[in-house]
Amino acid sequence: MQNYIDLANKNGVTLLNSGKCQFCGANTERGISECLEIFNLSFDSSDFSDTENHIYRFFIVDAHALQHPEIHGRWSNHFHLLRLHLIFKYDVKWTYKLSPKLSNHLNSYKKDKPDEHLNPPELLKRGNITTVDILKVATDTTKCKDLIKQWAKCVYDVWHNHHNLVDKIAQGFLVE
Ligand SMILES: [Zn+2]
Repeated sequence: MQNYIDLANKNGVTLLNSGKCQFCGANTERGISECLEIFNLSFDSSDFSDTENHIYRFFIVDAHALQHPEIHGRWSNHFHLLRLHLIFKYDVKWTYKLSPKLSNHLNSYKKDKPDEHLNPPELLKRGNITTVDILKVATDTTKCKDLIKQWAKCVYDVWHNHHNLVDKIAQGFLVE
C-alpha cells in the first residue's frame, strides 16, 4: 500500500498530528496517525479471523477508507462504497474471493471513465461513529461487532449522493 503521507501530499492535504482526526473527527490526541493506529489494531484482532467474522474486517476497512479518502487513491472510494452497497443493498455474503473479482470489474469500468471522481462528504461529516468508539468496546466482542456494522452503515449512508452511480456498477458486477 502506498504510504498515506505521500497520498495526502498528492491530494494536496496537510496532515495534522494533534487533536481530533481532521477527517473523521475521532476524539484522538494525535490526529490521523492515532486514528490509523487504532484502525490497524482493530484490523489485526484475532476475533475476526474466523470465516463467519470476516465480514467485520471488510466493514472496518470500508468504513475507515470512506472516512479518510484523502489518504487513499481516487478509485478506492468506488471500491469501498461498491462493496458496502453490495452487502447492504443486495445482501451479498462477502468473502475474500470476491474482492479481486470486484477489482477486476472496476478496472474494466474505469477504462472509459478517465474523469469520474466520487466527491466525498464534507470533512468531519462522514458518519457519527469513528475508530475511537470502536476501540472503547473492543473487549466486548458482541458489542464490538454490532458497532462495527453500525459504523459501516452510517458511513455508507453519508455517501448517499453516489449510491445511484455505484448501483449501476453493482448491477453489472452481479450479472457477471
Ligand atoms: Zn479518522
